[in-house]
Amino acid sequence: MASTVESVKSKVLIIGGTGYLGKRLVKASLEQGHETYILHRPEIGVDIEKVQMLLSFKARGAHLVPGSFSHYQSLVDAVKLVDVVICAISGVHIRSHHILLQLDLVKAIKEAGNIKRFLPSEFGTDPARMGDAMEPGRVTFDDKMVVRKAIEEAGIPFTYVSANCFAGYFIGGLCQPGKILPSKDSVLLLGDGNQKAIYVDEDDIATYTIKTIDDPRTLNKTLYLRPPQNILSQREVVQLWEKLIGKELKKSSITKEEFLASIKGLDYAEQVGLTHYYHVCYEGCLTNFEIGDEGEEASKLYPEVKYTKIEDYLKQYV
Ligand code: NDP
Repeated sequence: MASTVESVKSKVLIIGGTGYLGKRLVKASLEQGHETYILHRPEIGVDIEKVQMLLSFKARGAHLVPGSFSHYQSLVDAVKLVDVVICAISGVHIRSHHILLQLDLVKAIKEAGNIKRFLPSEFGTDPARMGDAMEPGRVTFDDKMVVRKAIEEAGIPFTYVSANCFAGYFIGGLCQPGKILPSKDSVLLLGDGNQKAIYVDEDDIATYTIKTIDDPRTLNKTLYLRPPQNILSQREVVQLWEKLIGKELKKSSITKEEFLASIKGLDYAEQVGLTHYYHVCYEGCLTNFEIGDEGEEASKLYPEVKYTKIEDYLKQYV
């Protein structure tokens, strides 16, 4: 199934355009030739890095639109400028988590009435499949489902992007929580280290996301990112790393019971993150289902995207 060629490229508003994923969405949107608008929130104040990032996007042709979640009408006005809204508002507790602020955005999109597609801040595990997730990490999925319900009740056309694991968080640390740089000496395996997960370079997440916004095949569906060569177990990731550094790592492992016990007593944000690792690395929540009629897979829809393979992603750490 090759990608359809769209004659008209939608105008896109990106909210959270200075964020870890959001800045990549802005870049991909500009690269793919979309007229790109970025919400510029006065709350960023004198954050010089964010301001300079916004100015660099402006220099590349993006439009900065003043607006704030604290000023509802400014959201309506911003939304009226475009065809597609992508929100990449924060949703990682160790950084910050503001998923439910999107309820106002949903209201604004409904009121504006012109939006052809809304992509809410998701970009992870499919929350619709996490109804049995553990506390406290389930808050992420529950909040994202609250936003989905509001979108669907408002009749807003949508695409949900299930991006699986951001490579920077997972691959950098050889899938060990709390680590984002790989050791050349040792690694802690979660369980037997054989559970498969899916890792995607953040720039590729942005590329696939922008590819899909004008694609009728993903309208009112979930786009799952499953680049076939990046579906790997922790052991396989470690093997790729060992090959690159020409050395075997010392391996120890932590059982499911020990892992769960280690979470107790940690601060809330850490507990949320570790619960997610539990579902991914012990339960295999990313790979234990087939994509049904409600979804599409990105690498099949867009075979022209040359995604970064994990063995290449790891080279930057050597
Ligand atoms: P960031 O933490 O980088 O934040 C993104 C943006 O959120 C900020 O740039 C800011 O936008 C906006 N923001 C923060 N606080 C507020 C506020 N109070 N009011 C309005 N806007 C605010 O987000 P990430 O890129 O880490 O996360 C984006 C999405 O990706 C989330 O849904 C998250 O769950 C998901 N994710 C998935 C991962 C995975 O492995 N699958 C890993 C990490 C994230 P600005 O200042 O530009 O206005």
